[in-house]
Amino acid sequence: MSENKCQATTESGSRCPNAPLSGGQFCFTHDPDKAAEREAARAKGGASRAAQLSAPVPKMATAGDVRDYLARVMRDAEAQLIAPRVATSLANLARVQLDAVAAAAEENKPGDW
Ligand SMILES: [Zn+2]
Repeated sequence: MSENKCQATTESGSRCPNAPLSGGQFCFTHDPDKAAEREAARAKGGASRAAQLSAPVPKMATAGDVRDYLARVMRDAEAQLIAPRVATSLANLARVQLDAVAAAAEENKPGDW
């Protein structure tokens, strides 16, 4: 009696726990007939992730750099190139970076005495 599970073996050597596609022996991940579809889905996912950022994160050595970066994040968020939650975490990271820039500037100041 065959159980209602994918017939493939996972990389760890155990039986794949996924349900097979209807009428088939394998789940979507393991069905040899679905290889082209899987590749297309993977390529599409990669392309949409790459489209989320209009440019790589720049080096931010000054408060002005951080300000410019935040302006870009706002533009990207407004143009819906990045999700609101992504914009929020980038803004939070930029705030930390601003603190680090200020701390570094303080470190490099000559002493008052
Ligand atoms: Zn499977």
